[in-house]
Amino acid sequence: MNLESEVEKSNSLVKRVGEIDFPQRKVYIKTYGCQMNEHDTQRMLSSLEDLNFDQTQEKEEADLILFNTCAIRDLANSKFYSHLGEIKHIKEKKKDVVVGVGGCVAQTEGKDLIKKYNHLDFAFGTDVIDDISSLVYRTYAGENKFSVNTWDRSRDYSIETKITHGKPQAYINIIKGCDKFCSYCIVPFTRGREKSRRVSEIVKDVQRLVEYQGIQEITLLGQNVNSFGKDNKESLAQLIIELDKIKGLALIRYTTSHPYDVSDELISVHGSSSKLSRHLHLPVQSGSNTVLQRMLREYTVEHYLGLLKKLRQARPDIVLSTDIIAGFPNETREEHEATLNLLREAQYDFIYAYSYSARPGTKAARMKDSLSEEERRQRLWEIQELQLAIQADLRQEMVGRVYRLLVDESGTKKDVLKWKGRTNCMRIVHFRPENESMDYLWHWVDVKITQATALSCQGEIVKDHGKSYPAPDLTVF
Ligand code: SF4
Repeated sequence: MNLESEVEKSNSLVKRVGEIDFPQRKVYIKTYGCQMNEHDTQRMLSSLEDLNFDQTQEKEEADLILFNTCAIRDLANSKFYSHLGEIKHIKEKKKDVVVGVGGCVAQTEGKDLIKKYNHLDFAFGTDVIDDISSLVYRTYAGENKFSVNTWDRSRDYSIETKITHGKPQAYINIIKGCDKFCSYCIVPFTRGREKSRRVSEIVKDVQRLVEYQGIQEITLLGQNVNSFGKDNKESLAQLIIELDKIKGLALIRYTTSHPYDVSDELISVHGSSSKLSRHLHLPVQSGSNTVLQRMLREYTVEHYLGLLKKLRQARPDIVLSTDIIAGFPNETREEHEATLNLLREAQYDFIYAYSYSARPGTKAARMKDSLSEEERRQRLWEIQELQLAIQADLRQEMVGRVYRLLVDESGTKKDVLKWKGRTNCMRIVHFRPENESMDYLWHWVDVKITQATALSCQGEIVKDHGKSYPAPDLTVF
């Protein structure tokens, strides 16, 4: 059903859609996991406007409660189950509240969830996110206890980015799914095979967002953005070259990368693009070749370090970060030491390190495992300790330099008001306002760094450029 064409804006309080009147209602969405999920939540919110839903941050006042789940990490998974359990009490008090679960967990376990949780009305998988209005419509039409987890089997992937948040930053899905099948990862089972959008469609999409919605910074999203365009004989490098030409667009980021698919063409674009961020997140996962083999990662440590070298040659000021899994099944002390050595050599600006947790249904979950949870915790701690020392040293070079930030938040700590923003290279910087009445939200500001530690940087404001992106200044990082 094409809801959009059937929406009848009879008056501002009630919308007639199909056979049903939709008064103004509120939707609460709890999102778990990665930026892909954050972006999917934005798409759902935008689509639900067709049914007269506005977002609320208070689940108690919501008419519709949705969970956008993540199956990658154990922690997000267990938080979701606990939150879903809590909703039961809300539904007991407010019988007409509709509850739905979407995303990765619903893709694989939707039918079981529906059976197990009486207060759950419907479940929907990752490939029907854009059909959320139709699914919610079905619940208001009297249907409940259903689960939809069908895949779109066509090779085409065509969408329009929808944004409701009013910020100058946007996530742009460019590829969905993953063909890599790393042995520890559930994503290929929850998100399906890779499918890319066309370069021409994405460029038009971004042009529209820049022109009509004031977007200045974009993050190109996918589980493996480096394999973007393979089926269409296009590439990520080609896409960035085209996006670079868009007037009014200030900054391009992309995530997440797989080292196997980083091409020389892309590395060269890191050197030549005027808008591509100086930060690159390139997940390595382990510094041991034998662990990488067991992870089915398809590259060696030597190949990976070679990529870092080429990237640093192309862009000497590039700032790098990575993901590390501590304590992969049967990891030996030597294999763990190899990861510590890699950290010393790679000199990352920050890392996301996790202790391995088995995801049911993956190859790694079926491996016999000799490591105890205590050993895993110890190895994670060693990785984090070493990295904190490395990044504390690295960040000293920031002191005295001026960085340009896009300001995204303010907060008060011990009665001191501070604003926070991110640099082009993804470092978080806090600064005090020139006076307390100043509102810097979504301003571009230049800040001189006065203090830098492993975890935070403080600075003082040098110049406030307002909300329009200022001309680049070579003395500003
Ligand atoms: S590249 Fe590997 S870790 Fe990343 S989403 Fe695909 S299977 Fe998972």
